Amino acid sequence: MDAIVNSLKTNDNRPTEAEAEEAVRTLLRWVGDDINREGLLDTPKRVVKAYKELFSGYDQDAEEELGRTFEEVAGYDDIVLVKDIPFFSHCEHHMVPIIGKAHVAYLPDGKVLGLSKIARVIEIYGRRLQIQETMTAQVAHSIDDALHPRGVAVMIEAEHMCMAMRGIKKQGSTTITTTFTGAFKTDPHEQVRFMTLIRG
Ligand SMILES: [Zn+2]
Repeated sequence: MDAIVNSLKTNDNRPTEAEAEEAVRTLLRWVGDDINREGLLDTPKRVVKAYKELFSGYDQDAEEELGRTFEEVAGYDDIVLVKDIPFFSHCEHHMVPIIGKAHVAYLPDGKVLGLSKIARVIEIYGRRLQIQETMTAQVAHSIDDALHPRGVAVMIEAEHMCMAMRGIKKQGSTTITTTFTGAFKTDPHEQVRFMTLIRG
């Protein structure tokens, strides 16, 4: 599922940087500005450079990232939770920012991840065009697939600039999405523990 939704790893039709810059010029003219005025001369270059960073997730593989750093632990099998991981993404419908934070927990089954790996996975999926529901599921399933833990819980809370800046212009509203697998799905107590730890 993940592969179909928004992975572009084998995109042979990727335009050149010059073509991308030209597209920015087109948009600048279309909104009504003068691409020859001084302030805008380097803007296409800057936008393309920024896009490279903001959408770098297409060139990165979460499962590869997670696969590298398994460690054996001394019998630790209780919850591992990384909360309040900040991220930026862009909605796939309007290409404007999604700003939020993610909370990720899993119940190890013999193996744990380096803690920074979880934040990296959020970044890899965040730096693609997204809808929040998809991103939440992708993060959960990539950890599930890589680590085979007893369960994974992911909650994402985010503000969507396409709702705040345009359309219904509702600023400050937060969208919450969750994905639970394994024991987090089947055992309500584990879900409650996850929620309590996040809010605590
Ligand atoms: Zn949108």
